[in-house]
Amino acid sequence: MEDCIFCKIIKKEIPSEIVYEDEEIIAFEDINPVAPIHTLIVPKKHITSLVELKEEDTNLIGKIYLVANKIAEQKGILERGFRVVVNCGKEGGQVVPHIHYHLLGGKQLPTRFM
Ligand code: AMP
Ligand code: ZN
Repeated sequence: MEDCIFCKIIKKEIPSEIVYEDEEIIAFEDINPVAPIHTLIVPKKHITSLVELKEEDTNLIGKIYLVANKIAEQKGILERGFRVVVNCGKEGGQVVPHIHYHLLGGKQLPTRFM
């Protein structure tokens, strides 16, 4: 996707602070963090949002959560706890139309959603 900002990050056309990368998934620091730890976990495949997921993406999405655990461990919050959030569509607060998972932590997060 030519105009997609996350595809550009994946292709290294835009700089980012990458914390994890493999063949299918990249994770980088959110440019505008809302918590001490705010990392975005992004499949390299351009999927616009949750509603565009296909059966064939099932494994990929499972791996996202394993990467979340890995990053949480690296950042020392595996035991303390953290949150993984995905926004979907306009009312869901999704701004970037390339599916991504927010890994949030490093402080007490509100017990109810913001
Ligand atoms: P969402 O509202 O779920 O679509 O989240 C988009 C997230 O992407 C926001 O938290 C932004 O701060 C973040 N973001 C936008 N552009 C960049 C960028 N170039 N590098 C890192 N994070 C970004
Ligand atoms: Zn994209």
